[in-house]
Amino acid sequence: MSQIPNFVAMQSTRNQDTYWIHWNLSKRCNYNCSYCSDALHDMTSPHHSLEYLISVANKIKKNIPNKKIRIWFTGGEPTANPNFLEFCKFLKNQIRVTHIGLNSNGSRNVKYHTELIKYVNKIQFSSHFEFMDIDKFLENLEAMPRKKSSLNLMAEPEHWDKVKRLVGFCEQRNINYHLKRIRPKYQWKQRHPASKDMNYDSYGVINAGLLNSVEYTPPYTEEQIQWLEEKEHVQLEDENGNKVTKPDILIYPNIDDEPEEKWANDFIKNQQDNLFGWLCGVGLEGIEINADGTIHRGVCGVGGIISHVDDEDWNLPKNFIVCNRTRCTCVADWKTTKYKNHSSRKELKESISFEIYKRKGSLDSINK
Ligand code: SF4
Ligand code: SF4
Repeated sequence: MSQIPNFVAMQSTRNQDTYWIHWNLSKRCNYNCSYCSDALHDMTSPHHSLEYLISVANKIKKNIPNKKIRIWFTGGEPTANPNFLEFCKFLKNQIRVTHIGLNSNGSRNVKYHTELIKYVNKIQFSSHFEFMDIDKFLENLEAMPRKKSSLNLMAEPEHWDKVKRLVGFCEQRNINYHLKRIRPKYQWKQRHPASKDMNYDSYGVINAGLLNSVEYTPPYTEEQIQWLEEKEHVQLEDENGNKVTKPDILIYPNIDDEPEEKWANDFIKNQQDNLFGWLCGVGLEGIEINADGTIHRGVCGVGGIISHVDDEDWNLPKNFIVCNRTRCTCVADWKTTKYKNHSSRKELKESISFEIYKRKGSLDSINK
């Protein structure tokens, strides 16, 4: 059962002169990993044309406030779209788009990646052992500039020998990697209409009429968990590929306390992520574009659909929202200002505003 975290407010440690766009380009993927939700990937979604992608990029520039723009592509698999490389070439020449990055399963070849890396700042490869050709994958990793690439190493318990091989490979070559535990995968079933039981999804949202049963549970041993705990924070880096040792959030234990630096992921891992009823600034520093083109404040979806990329004018949030979920499980969503209640906001607004200012933001920022 998730718990309320032991602080009264928090904010991100990232630069505040940038607007962060998390863009799920499409559900289309060339893999079908057993732990990946059907809501996240398929092998059939059509590819967007280059013209369409450029039209969305133009709307981003028109609608996003006057800040630097950072676009991070996810999917599905972004590079599965045959127009992706050309689109990145286009984006690279757009003023204000100062950073482009992506998650990729690394299934394209060295030639493709060598070309792509000219136009993007960062490729974060993810290993998916069920489908990947490990030798081709390592060739790709080796060929990429160290500061512009990294590895999300999916610690699949069934492929432990390969997990260790990749860790050794990265450590020898000074490649940044981050071990990711595999989460259980749920499937949804219709609940019997007479049942009165409440059911919650992984974000803590009530799913009326649906039951989630576990379809896949990663079979970690005690020994594997212990090894993961030792290795999980070994090598970390910021979005620009620089190694960092600094945590990603500031928390305020009480209204009179100085802020403390922490890792968002530690709260999520320990299930201290119940922010139900908190005032949340998700959507004030960036947005989430979903595979179907709808726009949400963040990955959590709280606040519902705020616009669609096809709309000429996007209705971007200007105020905090009250969280209605019992779990906040996405690290990206954690990197926004949050207050336990109106009283902590009143007391800490100025301190938070000053920290925003210290990180290249404005004292008038709406994110406080
Ligand atoms: S490669 Fe990524 S998006 Fe594709 S099926 Fe695997 S986890 Fe899902
Ligand atoms: S990011 Fe979403 S889930 Fe997390 S506290 Fe804010 S509204 Fe709630």
